[in-house]
Amino acid sequence: MKLQHIDFIDQIPKRFNSTINRREFIKTGTMVSCAFLCPSFLSAEKSNANSNSDDNRFIREASYYEKLDHKKIRCLLCPRECVVDDRERGYCGVRENRNGIYYTLVYARPCTYHIDPIEKKPLFHFHPGSLAFSLATAGCNLNCKFCQNWQISQVTPEQVQSIYLPPKDTAKAAANNNCVSIAYTYSEPTIFYEYMYDTAEAGHKENVK
Ligand code: SF4
Repeated sequence: MKLQHIDFIDQIPKRFNSTINRREFIKTGTMVSCAFLCPSFLSAEKSNANSNSDDNRFIREASYYEKLDHKKIRCLLCPRECVVDDRERGYCGVRENRNGIYYTLVYARPCTYHIDPIEKKPLFHFHPGSLAFSLATAGCNLNCKFCQNWQISQVTPEQVQSIYLPPKDTAKAAANNNCVSIAYTYSEPTIFYEYMYDTAEAGHKENVK
């Protein structure tokens, strides 16, 4: 579903392939930076603008990949199965090969978060009338022409401001704001799998689904 808050998007996105498409047209024709109000229910520490992908808080070794010759890797997280050279990233733009080891760059690094009605997810028979703590990181493994949230899905982590929100804090924020569930939404959550998994476990301890 379309997100309601994006934190201080700094740039119009760059796509990771060379196809000229509507987004590229918008990028070249529109140099507008968007600033949206930051929800006040969190006091999470903001990362620096154009946040640094050498910040160790955001980096975790990827859970699913295999090592290939010449320091290449094959990511096994989604059906794209990107083969990535050393110092390069996969299609989603949030996973990087560093000396033959593959890392996610968006662990605990959401660029948007919001409390939504569960019906907006859209779920109509799962805890109807409840609230869902909703979040996403930068990046996506898809490139849909109709994407409503292209400002975050089609960018790298450096192109959008994010916050540092580790799994335990995410779960506590959800519980403290009467959210029955945490929703990994706005873009394809597979690409921040490690963060999603640990947050789901932390949420379980807070009795948040
Ligand atoms: S998760 Fe990203 S790097 Fe991995 S296969 Fe999918 S698009 Fe490629």
